[in-house]
Amino acid sequence: MAGLPSTARVVIIGGGAVGASSLYHLAKAGWTDCVLLEKNELTSGSTWHAAGNVPTFSSSWSLMNMQRYSTELYRGLADAVDYPMNYHVTGSLRLAHSAERMQEFQRAKGMGLYQGMNIDVIGVDEIKRRYPFIETHELKGALYDPSDGDIDPAQLTQALAKGARDLGAKIIRFCPVTGVRRDKDEWVVVTAQGEIRCEIVVNAAGYRAAEVGRMFGRDVPMMVMSHQYILFEEIPELAAWSKENGSKLPLLRDVDTSYYLRQEKNGMNLGPYERNCRAHWVGHNDPMPDDFSFQLFPDDLDRLEHYLADAVARVPILGTAGLSKVINGPIPYTPDGNPLIGPMPGVPNAFEACVFTFGIAQGGGAGKVLAEWITQGQTEWDMWSCDPRRFTSFASAPDYCIVKGMEIYGNEYAIQFPRHAWPEGRDRKLSPIHDRIKALGASFDAYNGWERATWYAQDGDDVSEEATLTFRREGPWYERVREECLAVRDAAGILDLPGFSRFNLEGPGAAEWLSLQVTGLVPKPGRIGLIYFADDKGRIVTEMSVVRHDENLMTLITAAVAQWHDFEWLKSRMPKDATFKLSDRTEEYSTQILAGPNSRKILAEVCAADLSLPWLTHQETSIAGHWARLVRVSFAGELGWEIHTRVDDTAAIFDAIWAAGQKHGLKPFGMYALDSLRLEKGYRTWKGDLSTDYSVLQGGLERFIKWDKPDFRGKAALLSEKQQGVKKRFVTLVVENPGDCDAPSVSTLWHDGKIVGETTSGGYGHRIDKSIALGMLRADLAEPGTAIEIEIFGDRFKAVVQKDEPLWDPRNERLRA
Ligand SMILES: Cc1cc2nc3c(=O)[nH]c(=O)nc-3n(C[C@H](O)[C@H](O)[C@H](O)COP(=O)(O)OP(=O)(O)OC[C@H]3O[C@@H](n4cnc5c(N)ncnc54)[C@H](O)[C@@H]3O)c2cc1C
Repeated sequence: MAGLPSTARVVIIGGGAVGASSLYHLAKAGWTDCVLLEKNELTSGSTWHAAGNVPTFSSSWSLMNMQRYSTELYRGLADAVDYPMNYHVTGSLRLAHSAERMQEFQRAKGMGLYQGMNIDVIGVDEIKRRYPFIETHELKGALYDPSDGDIDPAQLTQALAKGARDLGAKIIRFCPVTGVRRDKDEWVVVTAQGEIRCEIVVNAAGYRAAEVGRMFGRDVPMMVMSHQYILFEEIPELAAWSKENGSKLPLLRDVDTSYYLRQEKNGMNLGPYERNCRAHWVGHNDPMPDDFSFQLFPDDLDRLEHYLADAVARVPILGTAGLSKVINGPIPYTPDGNPLIGPMPGVPNAFEACVFTFGIAQGGGAGKVLAEWITQGQTEWDMWSCDPRRFTSFASAPDYCIVKGMEIYGNEYAIQFPRHAWPEGRDRKLSPIHDRIKALGASFDAYNGWERATWYAQDGDDVSEEATLTFRREGPWYERVREECLAVRDAAGILDLPGFSRFNLEGPGAAEWLSLQVTGLVPKPGRIGLIYFADDKGRIVTEMSVVRHDENLMTLITAAVAQWHDFEWLKSRMPKDATFKLSDRTEEYSTQILAGPNSRKILAEVCAADLSLPWLTHQETSIAGHWARLVRVSFAGELGWEIHTRVDDTAAIFDAIWAAGQKHGLKPFGMYALDSLRLEKGYRTWKGDLSTDYSVLQGGLERFIKWDKPDFRGKAALLSEKQQGVKKRFVTLVVENPGDCDAPSVSTLWHDGKIVGETTSGGYGHRIDKSIALGMLRADLAEPGTAIEIEIFGDRFKAVVQKDEPLWDPRNERLRA
């Protein structure tokens, strides 16, 4: 066994599929001075007992990308590293019991096509042809994924490990990491075999990631579920079929019942995600043992009975087979079910590649992403879906992790509907006026844990969860959202917006430094402006509003979910000897949005502020005897103000505005109305329309680039892109004669039978009565008036490129009124 080296550039803690893939990809990138430390033997965590299914399907573009990459890597890996492996590409059938499921499949098919895969949606006859043993009761159709398959997880890990070792990386087994400490700018990793110094550390400890995280002072948001599959003995009919056809059956996923069924040799493997699921190691009475290497939980067949019966009815030959083995192992979950890949929040030179629920399917892609984070500080694809910073501190509370983990496990295959708010783990962060707006009829959803009103129901409206399980535009909310939008257009609306992230940047030199970080101008004192941060490739990292108080004090305001990401982006780029400081003030303030033509009259009744100050200005005032800052901007695209207040004063200020507003037609409005209103203005949302998948130029944000600034991050790349010609452009599309649904993100755009772009968001504009899609289109087609096709859940509609100006109030006259 190789001895522990005293130094390395990177140390990876954990030798499962993900740790090994990370090591392999670092070595392939030329970073060979890397060491992987494994507590026991490679694969001894979750990897050894994984079923090894490798699907590409996902309703998320980035996860699909990662999984597609894995399948491509695995196909060539045995040859690339000279390590034979069992990898069967059998294809899979994902069964649909409902029209909504078929819609989900149609969107995934479009995404798959766009990624170069031949995913298809097939009818019942075709299912039967591809899977002769199936009974097709209740089925509407299926998604056929030809790249799906299964791999031996242990062989995969060993192959990746061999590839890494051959390139010069090291693997030390039976070497548990027991602690870490920071010494100057290095990490000292303490192990049972001694200490190793390194520049960068990666937590790839799988279900033990929380334990390793604690060594860094980091609370990893995660919990552990028990997950089982049952292996069946040989089925003669299956053996005969396989022999005759020279292949295995495609994998079957009955996602609406919630299990998969796969041919395993000439038997079957049944793996349910049970609704009556079980968490493990969740409390003081049930601690995680110090070592669980190569161990399993006891079988728990009772939980599986329902799924077994369903599978036998679906594939009756299964009923003839004896059960040979049950595998019940630990599987970790984050509160949204996606893994953690990227910078470890708040900890320098430390990364996470852990808490994988599908670490075999995603391991290949995860290694690529992690290696990019380490070697380049950025990733090829926007990977926000897996970025550890998407969770802030509230999400690490054990009770939150447990209820969310169980909710996701029990609904692992659930369709993600745009208006469905998952019920568990709610009410974590409440606005001081939560009860008031609830009494007004608000339905809620959580934004970085903050409960915000989505729409306001009236007596008799259906506010059930079931009513939201649809992709259709119309539902119980539709008329109300429309009324809210029209109230904002014709009178005034107020939206309670707790949890806006806000940071103060304060001290001499702060504005000069900020100017180097952003593409455009930092506003002058007394003004507010939008600023865009690009990375070195000119891609859109984030957008913030800056409220400039004076020469040396600014408040940067950004999305609730961007809190940790944006703070860290700023903090990590500040010079060590900075003469200014950055502080997170999110918890101290709250915001109300007041918008609509009557908003000035309402404010005039409650404060003495100068309400003639123009758009993009701000001022302090007093409302109901409490301090407030009025910022004259409106994401709703009407005359309006953001009213920033101290959290404790929110209720008094809301009450004063609410009372004053009654005779002016003031109505509460929610996030759904705000989304509709902003679409009509072409305002982008972060990680929807704005992401590192696009450059600032592609994003149509050139008016926020000040080319004559001596320098700013991303300038060289953007200049070069401008010279070479921008290849795709942000466009606003109006969908003609739309069907029942508006375009979700990553709906494909078509021209001449080819995919020429994708949507980044879509919805219905009630002020203009049109279905709108924002998206990215091949540059030569981005001319206003060009007609293209948009595919929405499998149906094509004509969509017309609009002028590069807002659909509503193109000259911003209402905003400036
Ligand atoms: C029954 C079952 C079936 C599954 N089927 C599939 C499937 O079909 N497809 C799929 O994609 N996924 C599947 N999974 C999930 C899959 O097993 C995991 O997502 C995957 O194995 C995670 O890999 P990993 O490398 O992140 O973690 P692990 O394999 O758990 O590796 C982490 C490693 O870190 C080591 N470690 C921990 N602490 C330390 C320390 N202090 N010092 C050094 N080393 C340490 C551990 O010993 C372990 O080897 C299944 C899981 C279960 C339970």
